[in-house]
Amino acid sequence: MHTEATGASDHILERIRDEGGRVTVTRRLVVDAMLASSDHHLTANDVVDAVRSRHPDFHRSTVYRTLDRLTDLGVVDRMQMGTGPAVYHLSVRPHRHLVCDRCGAVQEVPPDVLDDVVDQVATATGFVVDPASTPLHGLCAACTTDAGPASTALRPPTRAHA
Ligand SMILES: [Zn+2]
Ligand SMILES: [Zn+2]
Repeated sequence: MHTEATGASDHILERIRDEGGRVTVTRRLVVDAMLASSDHHLTANDVVDAVRSRHPDFHRSTVYRTLDRLTDLGVVDRMQMGTGPAVYHLSVRPHRHLVCDRCGAVQEVPPDVLDDVVDQVATATGFVVDPASTPLHGLCAACTTDAGPASTALRPPTRAHA
């Protein structure tokens, strides 16, 4: 049942070894926590909470250090998605990001969704967009249909044109 996650985990741990890193217990826990999360995009605090929910004896600082080291090894990427804290994701599966400006959810889409945009912008302006660091902002499906408590948060004030 967990074969996909296990396969991904093995692949990532192999990558750590390839990069000359050791696979420590903490590194494995951090990778597992990121694979297990529903959207695979976690703040440093989320990772700490996930690791410590299973192993309360790990210090926060150990988890933070591990996250930094995995980032150095290129196994994990740190991304600033919006105004909130940076999120970390595993860099082994190429993908682009959809960020909901209302609830903050991060969704993954295939890496080629922006290819046409990149081409068109390059042709028109010579500017080369880096799609990996260009999250697409908007509203997630739930927020688009939901009339929940936060639904008025981003509605611009109604204003008559002068
Ligand atoms: Zn991501
Ligand atoms: Zn949303």
